[in-house]
Amino acid sequence: MSDLSPTRRQVLIAGTATLGLAAVSRWGTASASPIRDPFTLGVASGDPLPDGVVLWTRLAPDPLAADGLGGMPSTVMPVEWQVATDERFHQVVRAGAEPARPESAHTVHAEVSGLRPGAEYFYRFRVGNEISPVGRTKTAPRPGARLDKFSFAFASCQNYPDGYYTAHAHLAQEDLDLVAFLGDYIYEGSGQGGIGRGHAPAAETFTLADYRVRLAQYKGDADLRAAHAAFPWAVVFDDHEVENNWAGDISQPDTEPDQDPAVFRQRRAQAFQAYWEHMPLRRAQRPSGPDIRIFRRLTFGDLVDVHLLDTRQYRDDQVAGDARLDPSRTILGAPQREWLLRNLSGPTAQWNVLAQQVFFSQRDFTSGAADSFSDDAWDNYYAERNLVRDRLARASNPVVITGDVHANYVADVKADFEDPASATVATELVGTSISSGGDGTDQNPGDRVQLQENPHIKFVNRKRGYVRNTITREAWTADYRIVDYVSRPGAPIQDRARFVIESGRAGARQA
Ligand code: FE
Ligand code: CA
Repeated sequence: MSDLSPTRRQVLIAGTATLGLAAVSRWGTASASPIRDPFTLGVASGDPLPDGVVLWTRLAPDPLAADGLGGMPSTVMPVEWQVATDERFHQVVRAGAEPARPESAHTVHAEVSGLRPGAEYFYRFRVGNEISPVGRTKTAPRPGARLDKFSFAFASCQNYPDGYYTAHAHLAQEDLDLVAFLGDYIYEGSGQGGIGRGHAPAAETFTLADYRVRLAQYKGDADLRAAHAAFPWAVVFDDHEVENNWAGDISQPDTEPDQDPAVFRQRRAQAFQAYWEHMPLRRAQRPSGPDIRIFRRLTFGDLVDVHLLDTRQYRDDQVAGDARLDPSRTILGAPQREWLLRNLSGPTAQWNVLAQQVFFSQRDFTSGAADSFSDDAWDNYYAERNLVRDRLARASNPVVITGDVHANYVADVKADFEDPASATVATELVGTSISSGGDGTDQNPGDRVQLQENPHIKFVNRKRGYVRNTITREAWTADYRIVDYVSRPGAPIQDRARFVIESGRAGARQA
């Protein structure tokens, strides 16, 4: 469509009014901006509901300023926003303003309501005469409303110095209703390895300022910004948003002062604060000190329920050997477990997605009769995994989606993982990293052992990328999309494998 003349635009605006759409405040004349180039970290949207989404941005003219304040003065600044049905903002349907506050690093979380279900919208922000890039988003269809198709991708693990976010550049070109990000959005470490994109500063993150600078560094990546601007995201954190392998109040054993749980809780509070600030999350997810309520459910018509889990904040500490079999051990915590089981036993959509962080299915790494398992995954919380599995078995079309391991997997969730002949009761799709681990390989030598010892695992691949999912009433199609390298920019996207889950029949088969 060619550019509309001002006259034509005015006609359209008048037309909007006569059509009786919601009253809209057009942006008035811009005042001189108090800051220059504040939208360096782009825009985002998230957690779509039938009548709205949350819109995100941050004012940060100097995003890597060491004090974590983004180069902003310590004053509250109003930020205007608009939502339109068209990319040129001729048909603005909602508008408002949110205060960007210094205590939230001048981030903006505008919870927009009054939109139509299952509809595409465009949004932007303004402060003074500075206008943000335009984002595209989409509301959810009404729960229970017939929905024939839902498309989403899931991704995880984007260690910045390990590689370019080429996968995000391709992700941004897809046609999706949602992106689910399953954790390791940042890495807290001091890593200078990989391809040397570097951390700024290079030290491990510990304070609120450290976490803010790290998040700003990652969000400075243009490919990541493009993926955020293209679709609403639903995010959960894993360990590296705080610290490697943390569990509840317990820090990973190392030399830092956070071996004291009280100190670790302080660190966790600062990490959560910075995480919430930088994600398109609602106020319901705003942390209170060291506590954040990140587990939640998103529903898309009568087709898809997404149960987003938190497998970090409430878990017991990792244990060695057979202690993993202790029936009292929990990875979800009792309140979240009861919430999930209630969700699953009540009315749900046709497909039930557990969007979560760590490997759910059994994974024995040791050849022969001896066995060994990850102490950070559901295998270390054996009894609770089996309980959730048994309840999943009774739910409609359960599919577990997973990040963490920097590799693609497909697994049958078995009624008894020790008995390959037992029923397949659910399906697990594990997505590789965006960049963590560098270029990767198709498979490692050790993968042969994993496939032998775990016949329920159907597929392993260790390149970088994301998983694109097309869900219909008949089937779920998962496309494992990979890039051959991330050590330099520009890798094309490739389809490594396609798996299909038929509705009513758990387990994926390769197409
Ligand atoms: Fe990771
Ligand atoms: Ca074994």
